[in-house]
Amino acid sequence: MTKTTFYNFTLFDGTGDTEDTDSWMTIDDETGKIIDKGKGDAPQSDQSIDLEQQFVMPGFINVHCHITSHPDMFNGGGDESETESAIFALQSLRQLLKSGVTFVRECGTRYDIDIKLKRMMDNGSLTHVPNLLPSGRAFSMTGGHGDGPHSAYLVDSPDEMRKSVRQNLKNGAKIIKMMATGGVMTPNDYMEDPQLSVEEMRAGILEAHHKGLKVAAHAEGNPGIQNAIDAGVDSIEHGFYVTEDEAQQMIDKGIFLTPTLNAELAIPEEGTGILPDWEVAKAQNAIDDTYNNLKKAFKMGVKFTCGTDAGTPFNGFDKTPRECELLTRVGMSPAEAYRCSSINSATLCGIQEERGTLEIGKFADFQVLREDPLADVKAVQQEDKAVYLNGKREF
Ligand SMILES: [Zn+2]
Repeated sequence: MTKTTFYNFTLFDGTGDTEDTDSWMTIDDETGKIIDKGKGDAPQSDQSIDLEQQFVMPGFINVHCHITSHPDMFNGGGDESETESAIFALQSLRQLLKSGVTFVRECGTRYDIDIKLKRMMDNGSLTHVPNLLPSGRAFSMTGGHGDGPHSAYLVDSPDEMRKSVRQNLKNGAKIIKMMATGGVMTPNDYMEDPQLSVEEMRAGILEAHHKGLKVAAHAEGNPGIQNAIDAGVDSIEHGFYVTEDEAQQMIDKGIFLTPTLNAELAIPEEGTGILPDWEVAKAQNAIDDTYNNLKKAFKMGVKFTCGTDAGTPFNGFDKTPRECELLTRVGMSPAEAYRCSSINSATLCGIQEERGTLEIGKFADFQVLREDPLADVKAVQQEDKAVYLNGKREF
């Protein structure tokens, strides 16, 4: 076994609210896991790396991405061939990694490309990309949110849902994404439109849970959020109009909330005059309500995760650091925002034993920053940060 020791840095390990100055951490080069860490004089190692008093924190886990969707094409790139989409997906993954994201949960991928890429990662033929939890295509009703070319299973009964979820799991999906409401990006549906029914969602959720896998529901307004809770989902995605009553149910049932704030903000911020007026208006109208509702939910104790919905208009694959800043606008400290993007997201993905904090026994997925991330949440937006995956430098 050869070992590498990093030393002379301040560590935010993601377990609490504080940092440790003058830290060191030793990685087993073969497994990429942290085998020892401490403060002060570092032990002898095969290789020693001086981090020159910079700041180390866990890599981000982004739990809501669409690696085949184009943020700069207003149809999301829906007319692309599978080859074009696959190449774009690779570029997306590299961009995510460069921004500090070391683990990605997909929430709907065209042509099931994430499942195919994950297979290549597992057999070692695809490297230098973040780890991936693939969703395959999302589940939508006919004409519902996400009903686009090669991007969704269209299901219109519990039986159709059951069969399609079984097929997706057979293909290799490790998380199921369902559309419980309309959304911002589709012209003929609205956030308050309920879409898949409780019965339809429940049939698919049962199948996923039988395999120990989680289900995420796109649910922006009501009654769809309540429908998703009633059906038994594991996370509410967006949740812009979550009520206090729903927040309490989510706390009681351990349901996570992924607010995807940058997705919502990017449309009015950058899309005015470019995107259709109806789309800008839909997003703008929701923003004030969103922050009010989410502030309440966070204060009550709902567990938040970090996802950007990367791939939606003007919402590229480098926005996870910005999402942390937006999470502080919901009333979080920087440390709380980073825990959303690390341990909370790891727990939602079921990888909390191996990733999500920088503790002994876990993979050394981390980023190195010049400025103190606890003092300023914008410190993580540093563009030339160093990013390590399994203890190896990628950027
Ligand atoms: Zn999405």
